[in-house]
Amino acid sequence: MSTSASGNSFAINNVRVFDGHGLSSLRTVFVEGGLIATAGGDGEVVEGGGGVLIPGLIDAHVHFDSPENLREFARFGVTTALDMGTNSPTLIDSMRKVPGLTDIRSALSPAFGPSGRELTANTFALSAVVTGPDDAERFVADRAGEGCDYVKIIIEDPAEKGTAALNGETLAALVVAAHAQGFLTIAHASSDAAVQLGINAGVDILTHVPLRSPLTPGQVAAMKSKGIAIVPTLSMMEGIGAKFAMPTQGPGPGIHQVQQSVTDILAAGVRIVAGTDANNTPFVPFSPKHGESLHGELQLLVGAGLTPAQALVSATASAAELFRLQDRGTIVPGLRADLVLLGSNPLEDISRTRDIRAVWIEGERVQSSS
Ligand SMILES: [Zn+2]
Repeated sequence: MSTSASGNSFAINNVRVFDGHGLSSLRTVFVEGGLIATAGGDGEVVEGGGGVLIPGLIDAHVHFDSPENLREFARFGVTTALDMGTNSPTLIDSMRKVPGLTDIRSALSPAFGPSGRELTANTFALSAVVTGPDDAERFVADRAGEGCDYVKIIIEDPAEKGTAALNGETLAALVVAAHAQGFLTIAHASSDAAVQLGINAGVDILTHVPLRSPLTPGQVAAMKSKGIAIVPTLSMMEGIGAKFAMPTQGPGPGIHQVQQSVTDILAAGVRIVAGTDANNTPFVPFSPKHGESLHGELQLLVGAGLTPAQALVSATASAAELFRLQDRGTIVPGLRADLVLLGSNPLEDISRTRDIRAVWIEGERVQSSS
């Protein structure tokens, strides 16, 4: 007997399940109380039609501007979205734990330097300015007080004109202060010098990849030895390259330099996690669309050398593990029933992640809005 309002005890039959490497033979997946279960109750049976069931997708680099973002993510199968900089704790609170919609985490305002571009653009909290190493603990305490889930740091290029970028000592102090409170640190770094500062400071995750030139062998080796992961945001980098009409080959800056970095990072065994930088922020050079862009990101990751299975893992199990979301990322009993039913096999062609037949978030079916 099902008494829950959502009635979310059900079975999905005739599906092949992605297990992180390949697909199972046709089987039935059971859901009970929002979780994947070992056996079924007496609930509804959803006909899987021989399709492929993958874990709900995770976008590990987004920015929110409206609760409507959740609906956009959900209908594209992005069941978890990790915000990397949104200035309104009120907005973030209103978007947490909305039943049947995408589950979120947030950095709230990122840390940046005293006269950085972020401040002049006036999009983030003034309390996000970090004046020096002695100010790092205060910054982390402020964000913790607002309910952040991890700490985002913007490392600007120290050579950029008019920028008082966070320096190495301040970055190191931010990492120490964040770790002391149990927070991961994610650093925006889109130039060679910024990447080096992030590596030196021992951040946990770098995000973006320089367009100007590939990461150096020394940087790739240091990321591997320090266990630093990367969220390359190829969607964003490709969009910037196109906006500024950068060539896509040759010695100059361009998306091909970014792809080379990803290929090198992959070969070195550094963890790569999918993220788009989806946003609707007015002043930024490019705005990947919430939800839809993650499918393009998967295609770009495959273009840079990941297998389709590796790309899917980068947007599911690996993202969940990196961000300590132990309750999701794979299709096994006991985990959240965040599921995407595809009509065809994404391991043959990663663009088939767009062939979405149904999405469930914690066992609740997302209403399609075509
Ligand atoms: Zn971003």
